[in-house]
Amino acid sequence: MDAHKNYLIEKSKKVTMPTEKDAELTAKYMFTNDTFILDMCLNCVKKNRKSEIVNVDDEHQSFNVTLCRICRSNFNAQRTRRFFKYEVPCFKRDYEGELKKKKEVSPIHEIVE
Ligand SMILES: [Zn+2]
Repeated sequence: MDAHKNYLIEKSKKVTMPTEKDAELTAKYMFTNDTFILDMCLNCVKKNRKSEIVNVDDEHQSFNVTLCRICRSNFNAQRTRRFFKYEVPCFKRDYEGELKKKKEVSPIHEIVE
């Protein structure tokens, strides 16, 4: 057995499989960003190859996407991670930059937080 597979076997012993709650999808939270990125495991890819494509109008087509619990959970975790590890730090950087600028412009300006 190769070293990478052994490594994965050891790592997988500590993994907790996602619960149904971890994997619950909510459309209003799924479509909040300008771009939509969805990772899909090979099992899900194979299932989705059978998707029926429906013409909505001259511009749009639709199809159902089937995702296993792991893929759904991963999607939710990525959204959460993006929010807390990307969007909030970017906001903090910009907001603190604004505050710093205000203090530099007017040192006696009191900033209410
Ligand atoms: Zn999957």
